[in-house]
Amino acid sequence: MNALDFERPTSLAEALALMTPSPEGSQAWLAGGQSLLAAMKLGMATPSLLVDLQYVPGLRDIRVDTGPDGVPALWIGAMATHASVAASATVRGFAPGLAALAGGIADAQVRNMGTLGGSLAHNDPAACWPAGVLAAGATIVTSQREIAADAYFQGLYTTALEPGELIVGVRFPQMAGLHYLKFEQPASRFALVGVAVAHAGPGQVRVAVTGLGMGIARWPGAEQALCVQFGLAALSAVTPDDLQALGDLHASAGYRCHLAGVLARRCVAALTGEALPRHAPLAPLAVQQAPATSDSEAAPKDGFGGRQLLAAPPAQVWQAILDAQNLQASIPGCEALAQRSPTDYEATVKVGLGPLSVRFKSDVTLHDLQPPRSLTMVFVGQAGALGSGQGTARVRFEPTPDGGTLLHWWVQVQLSGRLAQFGNRLVEASSRKLSEEFFERFSRVLGVPADRPPPSAWHSLQRLLARWFSLFRK
Ligand SMILES: Cc1cc2nc3c(=O)[nH]c(=O)nc-3n(C[C@H](O)[C@H](O)[C@H](O)COP(=O)(O)OP(=O)(O)OC[C@H]3O[C@@H](n4cnc5c(N)ncnc54)[C@H](O)[C@@H]3O)c2cc1C
Repeated sequence: MNALDFERPTSLAEALALMTPSPEGSQAWLAGGQSLLAAMKLGMATPSLLVDLQYVPGLRDIRVDTGPDGVPALWIGAMATHASVAASATVRGFAPGLAALAGGIADAQVRNMGTLGGSLAHNDPAACWPAGVLAAGATIVTSQREIAADAYFQGLYTTALEPGELIVGVRFPQMAGLHYLKFEQPASRFALVGVAVAHAGPGQVRVAVTGLGMGIARWPGAEQALCVQFGLAALSAVTPDDLQALGDLHASAGYRCHLAGVLARRCVAALTGEALPRHAPLAPLAVQQAPATSDSEAAPKDGFGGRQLLAAPPAQVWQAILDAQNLQASIPGCEALAQRSPTDYEATVKVGLGPLSVRFKSDVTLHDLQPPRSLTMVFVGQAGALGSGQGTARVRFEPTPDGGTLLHWWVQVQLSGRLAQFGNRLVEASSRKLSEEFFERFSRVLGVPADRPPPSAWHSLQRLLARWFSLFRK
């Protein structure tokens, strides 16, 4: 464990005064410690100062106020535990669905320590509170401002919070009804998939889905249908093709989308009082997934890959991908990249998502170089106590008649230690997130104007490279 300071302020002013971000180290609010302490144990969070919020008065309040529009609104303080929300007569009276959501989180120990503010700040992609807050269209009130739920959640473990910004509480608007259901992981009770449907009146329906892999998201298709007619019939023609899901060892992307459809129907049935047909017909699935085709005539059994067009000639792409300086400039958090030989690199990368980060060392070796047509890259990464991983990527660049490149790639990965326990879904989800930044940088290196939409092949290569690098993040 790293050395750190610990403060337990007894007023909000004192707490905020302690939180003065400095370049020397990171500082973190400590709520119930249910996510933060686990992240610290894994080396994914290394704060130099913990500011414990337990004794800050007023942060546990639960009450019905008059909202800014003069209409009653439910206020839940950031330090209200899940157990206190579940047991609150105020919450049960105002929005019983929120009390039920809180009561379904984890086990009694976690519910007695875990808090609304901690859950929202952590923004786990399988957490329950983000679904309730986003579906309700609630407002997150911080020490600095008010943030609408739509602007607050920004993807995997990422929120609109600035360093040192404190969630003070959440204001929920009045609703005709909110219902949350999840298909839970038996061990943790986190949502494999969870759906919250909130109905605020005619034409005002919001549907939020958690557990799909990329962080909490609204389901536009379901919302549109339910805004026209709030009832089970409206969902009969809704497909999950506007949901983005990832698969892992627990569930495929298609199964996650299927669950979202089932849970949405059950939520609506609970809110309308309609009886669910015993075998409700489900719309056919059209699941958006990362392309998983291989160019290879004999694709390997495992792994993933794709082929797409690049708007740059093979020679240019080849140079960019092999150039150590370009690579270092493109990889988010790359602190050092040393070229030990024409085919060997050593990279030190510190990557993070929201409050989580990890530093890892990776050896990159190039094999079977056929410039500018194909190569194999082998990444071997060590992330200390988290374990290690190896990725093998076969890449082929094919010139196209218009001077571009058709890029073919296939990747196989092997994880060991704790990295393996995280499963592939988080690895893939975090890869996608990090890849956005990687490709912004990489396209700048290649001279692709920033305002030009990246060609589809960027997304392929993005996934490929970011996945290698992010394998060692957890
Ligand atoms: C075994 C287990 C099972 C779980 N199952 C579920 C589940 O089924 N569903 C579910 O939704 N969740 C689940 N959780 C998560 C749990 O609900 C906690 O709420 C969540 O882990 C956050 O914990 P915490 O409130 O103690 O925050 P902490 O762990 O103390 O903090 C988490 C993060 O939030 C920051 N933070 C805390 N408070 C604030 C604030 N007021 N303002 C700004 N930043 C803040 C911290 O700095 C830290 O980065 C589970 C957790 C465990 C350990």
